[in-house]
Amino acid sequence: MHEMSLAEGVIQILEEYAMNEGFSRVKTVWLEVGQLSNVEVDSFRFCFEVVCRGTLAENATLEVIETPGRGYCLDCCQSVEHSQRFDPCPQCNGYKVQATEGSEMRVKELEVE
Ligand SMILES: [Zn+2]
Repeated sequence: MHEMSLAEGVIQILEEYAMNEGFSRVKTVWLEVGQLSNVEVDSFRFCFEVVCRGTLAENATLEVIETPGRGYCLDCCQSVEHSQRFDPCPQCNGYKVQATEGSEMRVKELEVE
C-alpha cells in the first residue's frame, strides 16, 4: 500500500526534526496534502496510526490540510485550476495541463513537547 510508505516517510521526517531540535514527543502533526498528490486521506490516517506505534509520535493527532491543485496549460499558456490529474483544461478543454501545485504532501507544523 502506497499510503503505508508515505506514512513511514513522515515518521522519518519527524524523527529527524526531533534529533535536530531536541524534542521527544510529537502531539499534533499538521500535514498538507495536495489534491493532486494521489494520497487517500482516510487510508493515510489509518497507516499513520499504525506506523506511529512505538515511535515518538504514538497517539499524535493528525490534522490534514488539503491544498488545492493547480496546473499550467500548454495550449492556452496560463495557470488553471486543476483538481484531478488527467482532467482537461477548464479554459480550452485541452489535455496538455501540467501539475504545478498540489502534487505534494508535506509536514507543515508540529506541536511537540
Ligand atoms: Zn487550456
